[in-house]
Amino acid sequence: MAQCKECRNFFSDENQPAFGDCIRKTVDPRQAYFTSKRMEALRDTNDCPDFSNKK
Ligand code: SF4
Repeated sequence: MAQCKECRNFFSDENQPAFGDCIRKTVDPRQAYFTSKRMEALRDTNDCPDFSNKK
């Protein structure tokens, strides 16, 4: 089972390794933008449509 820390969109917090930021790019017809969300490193990715393996 994959975890957020294995995802390309996850950037770990050096001060708090159990957490990180999930940064995703969203593109709609008029613009592209990034969203950032605080995430647990060990969160299960099963329900995430944007999981992208780092490897
Ligand atoms: S929430 Fe989804 S996109 Fe964000 S780090 Fe986890 S698996 Fe990746």
